[in-house]
Order: sequence, then C-alpha cells, then structure tokens
Amino acid sequence: MEQPVVTLRDVCLTYHSPETETVAIDRLNLEVQQGELLGIVGPSGCGKTTILSLISGILTPTGGEILVCGKDAQQARMLTGYMLQKDELFEWRTIRDNILLGLQIRRNRNAQTERYADELLAKYGLAEFAKFYPSQLSGGMRQRAALIRTLVLSPQILLLDEPFSALDFQTRLAAVEAVHRIIRAENKTAVFVTHDISEAISMCDRVVVLSPRPSTVREIVPIDTLADITPLARREAPDFGAYFDKIWKLLEHPTEK
Ligand code: ADP
Ligand code: MG
Repeated sequence: MEQPVVTLRDVCLTYHSPETETVAIDRLNLEVQQGELLGIVGPSGCGKTTILSLISGILTPTGGEILVCGKDAQQARMLTGYMLQKDELFEWRTIRDNILLGLQIRRNRNAQTERYADELLAKYGLAEFAKFYPSQLSGGMRQRAALIRTLVLSPQILLLDEPFSALDFQTRLAAVEAVHRIIRAENKTAVFVTHDISEAISMCDRVVVLSPRPSTVREIVPIDTLADITPLARREAPDFGAYFDKIWKLLEHPTEK
C-alpha cells in the first residue's frame, strides 16, 4: 500500500498555563491516505482544532510523532494549507488581492502564480468578482474565495476547521457542494473537522469519531457505499441515515454500539 500522507503516532498534547495543565490529546493514532477526504468529528472542546494545529506544525506534540509527506510536521509547514471557520478575508482588499496575499507573504507572487490564481478564480466561478470587495460577496462565495486563497499556495494537504459553521443552512449546502467539487477536481488530500455529522458524511471518504477530551480515536467509519456521489446526492441516499445513526451513537452513547 502507498505510504500515508499524514501519520500521527501516539501523539499527545498537553497545554500548560501557570495555573493548570490541559491534556487535549492522549496517544492519538491516525493515518491520512493520498487523495482522501478525511473527516474528524467529536464533541466541542475534545481537541479537533488542536489536531489540525499539530498537523500544520503550528503546535509541537508533547509526545509521539507526526509525519507529513515523510517529514517531521515542523519541517513540512509549507506542505499544508489551513482554512478556518471564519473566512478571514481582509475587507479593504479586493478578492483577487486577498487571494494573492499569501503568495506575497511567502515572496512567491510572480506572473506564474498570479496566472494560477486567475485560473482558479475563473474555474470556480469568481472571475467576475475578482475586483469586488469581500462585503459584496455572499457567504458561500467568500468561503470559495478563502479556499482558493489556500489552494493558490499549492499545499499538498488541506486542513479545514469547521469551514461552514458560520453559514446559514441553505448557503452551507451549496458551499459544501462547491468545496467538495474543488477538492476533488484539484486532487487534494484534505482533513476536514466539523461537529456536524451530516456534513461529515456528505463530504468525506472516512469519518474519524473522537472521544471527549483528551482526544483518542473512538472509531473510524468508512463512508464507502456513498463514495462516488456528490454531497447533496449523499444526503438523499438510502444509506445516509444508517451512517448518521452509527456516528451519532458513537458520539452520544459509546457503550451501546
Ligand atoms: P475543539 O476544536 O474540538 O473544540 P480544541 O482543540 O480547540 O477543541 O481544544 C481542546 C481543549 O484544549 C479544550 O479543552 C480547550 O479549552 C483547550 N485549549 C485549546 N487551546 C488552548 C490553549 N491555547 N491553551 C490552553 N488550553 C487550550
Ligand atoms: Mg475547534
């Protein structure tokens, strides 16, 4: 089998403050395969964001090891791209200038990378809005712009931290559809954190269910029978409910499964 793109081996993370210690992650083991969309669900405060921060190399594990494309996560920071719940677009910059900002910061803004940015804008329906300001776009379009801003840096692995939770339900369905399509079309590997079970089932190839803090993997649920259909079609599929019940029970009543 191919080497996993991301490996977490017995990873532990304890936050220290002068008053307290918080054990956020306790001996977590996880592998992310090339090209897969891996979902992570778990109760609020269980350590989901912490896991993404560890993979991105922002945090150093207090135990265990993390490999990203065969390198230590700290050395692989350029290989991951982070997308957050809030789109973090700067209101005083146009959409295009927001998208080019990361390249500018990495001193990699040039004719070729600008062309790539423009291609992505065109491909994903934002070319006409390139000169608009974020406030002139809908919530769903802003999330698409935020994803393009991440993609333009050509990361191997996308890390998405509850990217849709600030959107209303209708907008969210369309945004999930668009983001799923873009991740597949660009052949990216992605780790997608959410507390929304339906969203995880509709987006992902496998869903990792975490325990309450400190996070360990309770179970990994492959969404294999829905693999080849879009998020909206998955919600309509007969198997959707069974996946939902399974994950819900694992989250709420782990002993009854
Ligand atoms: P989730 O994303 O699943 O809601 P987090 O990973 O943000 O959870 O947080 C996991 C636990 O670690 C929580 O109890 C949170 O309060 C704690 N925590 C997160 N960040 C810090 C920090 N910088 N310092 C201290 N504790 C933190
Ligand atoms: Mg979080």
